[in-house]
Amino acid sequence: WTAAFALALAAGAGATLCYLYLTTAKRVNDELRSGVLDLIGNTPLVRIASLSEETGCEILAKAEMLNPGGSVKDRVALQIVTEALRDGRLRPGALITEGTAGSTGVSLAMVAAALGCCCTITMPDDAAVEKANMIHAYGATVERVRPVSIVHPDHPVNVARRKATETPGALFADQFENEANYRAHLKTGEEIWRQTRGLVHAFVSGAGTGGTIAGVSRNLKARNPRVRVFLIDPPGSSLFNKVKRGVMYTLEEAEGKRLRNPFDTITEGIGINRLTANFGKALVDDAFRGTDREAVEMAHYLLRNEGLWVGSSAAMNCVGAVKAARVLGPGHVVVTLLCDGGHRHLSKFHNPEYLEQMGLAPRSQGRGLAFVE
Ligand code: PMP
Repeated sequence: WTAAFALALAAGAGATLCYLYLTTAKRVNDELRSGVLDLIGNTPLVRIASLSEETGCEILAKAEMLNPGGSVKDRVALQIVTEALRDGRLRPGALITEGTAGSTGVSLAMVAAALGCCCTITMPDDAAVEKANMIHAYGATVERVRPVSIVHPDHPVNVARRKATETPGALFADQFENEANYRAHLKTGEEIWRQTRGLVHAFVSGAGTGGTIAGVSRNLKARNPRVRVFLIDPPGSSLFNKVKRGVMYTLEEAEGKRLRNPFDTITEGIGINRLTANFGKALVDDAFRGTDREAVEMAHYLLRNEGLWVGSSAAMNCVGAVKAARVLGPGHVVVTLLCDGGHRHLSKFHNPEYLEQMGLAPRSQGRGLAFVE
């Protein structure tokens, strides 16, 4: 191919041939990507040596911060938009709306920019400001609203849904209820199966919409029903109760009990008090609770022992991986996800003054996993 291309160029064939060469070469050259959307997914599976050595299990994690928009949510944004374009629910140039604590907004803003669509993201004003700035940088509109209950018309999800209804041709991405979300993660599960050569014993994850744990659990259990799936749930979330006791609060109960408020947890993107369509698809064997203290100490531990800089949900996932390793005993392969990196958490989860103020400044030094309860 290269020789043919050189010859054609020498004969003065120019840009058209160059384009033809590159598009053909893509089929024979893995290293060449057709654009930013082609960089989504197929993330590396990385061994976390210190956690593996201390638990006697192999602890492996998908490096989702390497997606082009910086988080696992790129997969979901791409799947939602691709399915909508394919079904004719979205046309190029039209508006996409979503209500989100941030990561999905960043990913949708990126996908919209790459495909020439417009995007409006509604987010609670207590979410890390970095994400709002990124969404804005991609050319999308950001609307920050007061964090209120999901039953309130001003909840970000309800505002985004209303905006789509009022705008002709607009698509409400609806990551909580749109099952394209978990379908994106069937592929994440497939990647884990391939990357572990089928030698995976357990998968551990937190849940925000439930898409990740649903897609991965469905894929892995279809391949091997003995793969164990564990949920790690942050303070204020009722998914732990759902898995352990089959109990889930109704929206009204959740509102009445004020189960989830901004002071429940400093982790972002995980924990929920209503049963979403995507979590409804998850095949979960057991659940652990995780605390903010454990997540902060784990993030600190990974920085010092691995040089890994991860966000709050990724740190919580690693806490879950250690708990799963302890339950299973040495000799097992435990897989989790590093949902995003630390950069977009500089104003909160990775801000020493903020942690000090919350009484959560890291205390542990060096190795040792005594901080995981
Ligand atoms: N981590 C981060 C940073 C997220 O934004 C989300 C999604 N809200 C999750 C984890 C949870 O993933 P899921 O929605 O697939 O349950």
